[in-house]
Amino acid sequence: MKKNRYDVVVIGGGAAALYLCALLKGRSVAVLEASDRVGKKLLATGNGKCNLTNVNCSASAYNDSRVSDYLAAYGPAETMHDFEAMGLALRRIEDRIYPYSECASTVSDVLRSAAQRNGVDIRCLHVAENIIRHGKTFTVQGTATADGKKTSFGMDCYCVVVACGSAASAGRDSLGLFRGTGHTVRPFVPSLAPLRTDRESVKGLSGVRVKCSLSLGERKESGEVLFKDNGISGIATFNISAEFARGRAEKGDTVLVDFMPDRTEEEIVRFIAATGGNAVSALRGMFHSRVAERIATRAQRDFAGNADALNLAKTIKNYPITVTGLSDASQAQVMSGGLSLGEFDGHLCSLLCDGLFAAGETLDVDGLCGGYNLQWAWTSAHAVAEGIAEKFS
Ligand SMILES: Cc1cc2nc3c(=O)[nH]c(=O)nc-3n(C[C@H](O)[C@H](O)[C@H](O)COP(=O)(O)OP(=O)(O)OC[C@H]3O[C@@H](n4cnc5c(N)ncnc54)[C@H](O)[C@@H]3O)c2cc1C
Repeated sequence: MKKNRYDVVVIGGGAAALYLCALLKGRSVAVLEASDRVGKKLLATGNGKCNLTNVNCSASAYNDSRVSDYLAAYGPAETMHDFEAMGLALRRIEDRIYPYSECASTVSDVLRSAAQRNGVDIRCLHVAENIIRHGKTFTVQGTATADGKKTSFGMDCYCVVVACGSAASAGRDSLGLFRGTGHTVRPFVPSLAPLRTDRESVKGLSGVRVKCSLSLGERKESGEVLFKDNGISGIATFNISAEFARGRAEKGDTVLVDFMPDRTEEEIVRFIAATGGNAVSALRGMFHSRVAERIATRAQRDFAGNADALNLAKTIKNYPITVTGLSDASQAQVMSGGLSLGEFDGHLCSLLCDGLFAAGETLDVDGLCGGYNLQWAWTSAHAVAEGIAEKFS
């Protein structure tokens, strides 16, 4: 008969939960994970390399400026120190930090080993469905699957940590767990996600990757953009998509692509003129053939058939794409929405339900690409670990 009484039950076995379990010492802890293994999403991060933090992490990368207090208490420096103490060698690439192995599974292996050393009971294929409070204790109820058979379970504890992430990628929306707690829950919407665009602007470009910059009003992002049948993707696009999730942009807004961000309009005109031939043919030596064709077609359309060097240069520097929406959750890296930080204390313990903690993406905190989202998973898990330690002291 398996034990069903713990000091702490953690719902979700992702990045935040594993980090918490690596930090929590001297307590009996169970992790309930809905899928067949813990840390699945972690394995997909940073294209399998896991960009686990960013040395320039500040609140400006997030949707909620209140994260600054949590980051001040435990930011990238403390995280890197603790990861190295757990035995994870790190590598810095520009401002981004990766495991030295550049292999996300190394991060998950190190965290799982630390959790194991702390005696954490990890239960996969356990879906939490309900949190019931009885005075100072809780029962977490749910359904477990074993050998194809489903059974109900109930686990008693003094503290519950909700670390069930978001619906992004193959994740689950478990915000229903907060029904009855009195918490304000903002429904999830994709934040770092491909943008759907008008078809004409991306016609014929599906599968082409370009290094360029994107602007949306004052916001500018440089990097690789991947063209798709119905829109654009890639890191620069994801960071622009956050503007839509944060309500600073809306459907119908225009994103301008600068296909040659390191050259001025005048330099481009001079380059085209120096080729000596037809201005449109010069594009073939500057871009992927399908990009060249699209720029020429666009210049001809926008400048009444006059695709001369100047009009081509204008189109190259300001190629307009109309955004028709964000892709759905399955294609998003991160979701905006969840539980408001304002209803939690400095240790991420609920102000409405003592003993209930939250960590990671379940909270309404989302960051840009570059290691900020995982940093929030580590920072929030550390805050919870301190809160739990204080509760039992
Ligand atoms: C493709 C991809 C690449 C990314 N790359 C990066 C990157 O390089 N750097 C970065 O900073 N961020 C990256 N992110 C974002 C980052 O992965 C997330 O922000 C982070 O994993 C959130 O951690 P979490 O613990 O809150 O949630 P998760 O890691 O999603 O874990 C939540 C867990 O809870 C489980 N769960 C949900 N509901 C229940 C329930 N009711 N009962 C039991 N279990 C449940 C889920 O199965 C899941 O395992 C990436 C995301 C994706 C999808």
